[in-house]
Amino acid sequence: LGKVRAKKHLGQHFLKDPSIAEQTADAFGVNNNFKFCLEIGPGMGILTEALVKRSDLDVHVIDIDRESIEFLSQNEVLEDEKIIEGDFLQLDLQELSNGQKMGIIGNFPYNISTQILFKLYEHRDHVLELVGMFQKEVAERVVSPPGSKVYGITSVLLQAFFDVEYLFTIDEDEFDPPPKVKSAVIRLKRNQTNELGCDVKLFKKIVKAAFNQRRKTLKNGIKAFTPEGTSFSNPELLSKRPEQLSVADFVQICSDIEAMS
Ligand code: SAH
Repeated sequence: LGKVRAKKHLGQHFLKDPSIAEQTADAFGVNNNFKFCLEIGPGMGILTEALVKRSDLDVHVIDIDRESIEFLSQNEVLEDEKIIEGDFLQLDLQELSNGQKMGIIGNFPYNISTQILFKLYEHRDHVLELVGMFQKEVAERVVSPPGSKVYGITSVLLQAFFDVEYLFTIDEDEFDPPPKVKSAVIRLKRNQTNELGCDVKLFKKIVKAAFNQRRKTLKNGIKAFTPEGTSFSNPELLSKRPEQLSVADFVQICSDIEAMS
């Protein structure tokens, strides 16, 4: 059987070394409280092969590429009813798993990595864990503590609800064709936070607004959300830049604003 021809517009970079796939699979669902597993972008199934060996997982895959789907089906990597052809970003996760909690894994298509992260955020009460291969830069941002240049929207939003870990780095030449940048595998596990202590929609708006003007002080960045006369419990936060604020600082500011409206 022929191999899948790598298509650039689909972000296809196939892993060459099965041991990296094994290592990625091994990092996933340790002491898991879910069985349903969705792999995004299986391609020729190098990671899928490692996942299906796990009897504690019920593995499903979704790929947008017809050729990859046919490859997986013809090679009987897993049962046809668990192979979905489609766009992960359009997929209804609740419907797919029939409401069961789930985990997500993949060597992700890098062109949609941020959108995958936002979808995880929106489905945080349904998706309990994600182990994924991202561009190193995106991976570093997700796990970054405050004070770093790369600390941003995805860092704050995801760290509010997930424990994040940088697992390992992968060189360009481990892929065919090699991408232009290094990659990294990270793990996000749902933490104990159910209630943030402020309105989550406002929280997201404030975090986005603040980082969209990251060179401004917080006071200026979130002006549009701050009613006249808002009294802040920690006013010195307002003269800082967004990258200096922790998740708890953002929550504090958010609840101060909420108290005014
Ligand atoms: N996991 C494989 C392939 C990684 S390349 C390996 O490690 O070798 C990324 C894969 O994501 C490709 O197979 C590509 O077709 C798929 N993909 C790209 N966009 C997608 C989308 N929107 N939804 C689902 N899969 C997508």
